[in-house]
Amino acid sequence: MTPMSSIGRLKDGNATFVAHPEAALPITSERRMELAKGQTPFASVLSCADSRVPPEVVFHTGLGDLFVVRAAGQVTDRSVLASLEYAAEHLHSPIIVIMGHESCGAVKAAMDTPATKSLGVNLDYLLKSIRPAVTASAAEPESSRLRVAILKNVEDSLNDVVEGSPLLKKMLNDGEIGVVGAYYELGSGRVHFSDAVIKTPAGAHK
Ligand SMILES: [Zn+2]
Repeated sequence: MTPMSSIGRLKDGNATFVAHPEAALPITSERRMELAKGQTPFASVLSCADSRVPPEVVFHTGLGDLFVVRAAGQVTDRSVLASLEYAAEHLHSPIIVIMGHESCGAVKAAMDTPATKSLGVNLDYLLKSIRPAVTASAAEPESSRLRVAILKNVEDSLNDVVEGSPLLKKMLNDGEIGVVGAYYELGSGRVHFSDAVIKTPAGAHK
């Protein structure tokens, strides 16, 4: 699959989830048996760990379809990057989706916690990673500030993935993978995608 056809399949799956959230996910015992031999997920998703945002469900996918990495606020660290590298290089997953969501508690916590206040070494690490998005949205009106910070945090996570991994950056520049941001609406179930970053290698014919 190409990065664009992967995104198309994700959009189709999300449309099914929006219109028919009760529809059973495409999981069969035959497919489960087949997958015991190996996996070729058609997309990788880095999403927030929030219980309301399970990528396999919101994209209406089955076993073996998505390579999913999750952390609060979809913050990257080395384990996250190594996982995404594995999916891209070894499993040939053609697209990396960085998905944030409406009312993200991690972004809200970064917004509400002064930088000088410590909440413990691990949470401090998480909030520090999100804080640039909060700073960038500081001038927004109160009513849209959280949403703008969440969108900016998706953009920051996307840049962190590309800049934090020489391997993924090279694969992106060589046109082997694409990256795209996404925003999930809790109530409607709808996923909004940003413009995908997909490069065509110089001299390539397609
Ligand atoms: Zn969240």
